Amino acid sequence: MYKYLFGPVPSRRLGMSLGVDLVPKKVCSLDCVYCEVGKTTKLTVEKKEYILAEKIKEELKHYFSHNPDPDYITFSGSGEPTLNACIGEILQFIKQEKPHVSTALLTNGTLLYDPEVREAIMDADVVLPSLDAASEHVFRKINRPANDLKVEQCIQGLIDFRKDFKGKLWLEVFILPGYNDSVEELNALKQAILEINPDSVQINTLDRPGTVSDLRGATHMELQRVIDLWQLNRVEIICSSQQRKDIQSFRSDVETAILGTISRRPCTLNDLTNILGLHVNEINKYLDVLEADEKITTEEQARGVFYRIKEA
Ligand code: SF4
Repeated sequence: MYKYLFGPVPSRRLGMSLGVDLVPKKVCSLDCVYCEVGKTTKLTVEKKEYILAEKIKEELKHYFSHNPDPDYITFSGSGEPTLNACIGEILQFIKQEKPHVSTALLTNGTLLYDPEVREAIMDADVVLPSLDAASEHVFRKINRPANDLKVEQCIQGLIDFRKDFKGKLWLEVFILPGYNDSVEELNALKQAILEINPDSVQINTLDRPGTVSDLRGATHMELQRVIDLWQLNRVEIICSSQQRKDIQSFRSDVETAILGTISRRPCTLNDLTNILGLHVNEINKYLDVLEADEKITTEEQARGVFYRIKEA
């Protein structure tokens, strides 16, 4: 049982992807209202060795010697990976040990204003930053950043990184009705995207409960409206649950374990993480599919969102 590695989990974009957690739950520079991992408990821009590089390397070494190679090794997980001051060292370690396995980084992109961070992640094969706002007041409303962060600085960091980065840059924009879908904000986002010049833009929306209860995901029509307004090349809607269903390597044993657990009693995401010993991101992926298949349903209670079997 690994502490900092999870999966591999199937991903349309990254194939079978082994997740690597570089920070504990939940250290992040943002506290997004839609965060699937839960509320940020340490909101910071301070870079530190939150998890010791040696401990992560130890787990990776063990994994490499006991498992087949994944398609990707992806820095993602319980917070913002670039906050770990050793991200560059760990990336280089993977490159050395497994030069033929691709590496990816899921990041909120907020620390890319820092040249040291840009340098540390320069050798990744794919970087997937997110950008949900282009104006300061929307940034504060949807992403609830650490005080020192300004959206302008984040966008400039993305522009500067793109200039030097030779790998693929796939920008993700999370659309949340009532938060960042006004024509004014969408136009400002379009301008930022043009300046950043990513290889592709992926539009996503809510399909798991966020940290704020009255949120709803955008409908397909609303997402299409964004695409029509932007008139940009290389923009696609990523509908995660449908896509995950397509992946043949979807593991039915995990699905069965989740269904078996919540059929005994409704559980929160945290309960499932503790009971099944799986990473929150891994469980989230399976919950997406089960919800899309209408096998489970959610219910808001004082302790959080509970998952239960959907009655026929
Ligand atoms: S940046 Fe990612 S991990 Fe951090 S709060 Fe937002 S969604 Fe959650």
